[in-house]
Amino acid sequence: MLNIVLFGPPGAGKGTQAEKLINKYNIVHLSTGDIFRANIKGETELGTLAKSYMDGGNLVPDEVTIKMLEAEVDKNPNAEGFIFDGFPRTTPQAESLEEFLTGKGTTISVMLALDVAEQELIKRLLLRGKDSGRADDANEEVIANRISVYNEQTAVVADFYSQRNKFQKVDGVGSVDEIFDRLCATIDEYKISL
Ligand code: AMP
Repeated sequence: MLNIVLFGPPGAGKGTQAEKLINKYNIVHLSTGDIFRANIKGETELGTLAKSYMDGGNLVPDEVTIKMLEAEVDKNPNAEGFIFDGFPRTTPQAESLEEFLTGKGTTISVMLALDVAEQELIKRLLLRGKDSGRADDANEEVIANRISVYNEQTAVVADFYSQRNKFQKVDGVGSVDEIFDRLCATIDEYKISL
């Protein structure tokens, strides 16, 4: 299986690149943010719970997020692999994912971390806020909080994969196609080493 953690701060381009990668590698895209947003739209209990955290740019509690993610993986028993987009965002999430995948006889192949400077992220998020309809993209204070949550709680997840020799940094600035080519080159290099 090819299991990729697509990593990076909010606005790094994870969602855009994940959509392209799933077509090329025939794997399943699991975005915890998208799943939460679908639950909010569907007015589920999970959606109501997640909304209060998301509106402020804070993380939904680990227990809830992990349970939801595992259920989504289980919905795809025949998948040839997954792109985890927006997950794991904390070390306990990374530990749980490792344990969960090990139990299924698989593991994370590689973490691809999109590298984008903070000023560029804010610019991209505000631009996205104009047409994405995402409340958490339209408010500069919420954006600032999401970036500080990333720096304080999420950035350390890179160490988890780096300690396991699975961390690959990829330049996240350039055209969508240029960045896509960089990601594919890194994945293909990894696949050759299998
Ligand atoms: P995203 O679409 O990845 O930017 O996520 C939007 C929001 O959903 C985040 O700001 C969090 O409130 C919530 N969220 C998404 N993924 C996670 C996660 N792995 N852990 C906790 N909260 C999450």
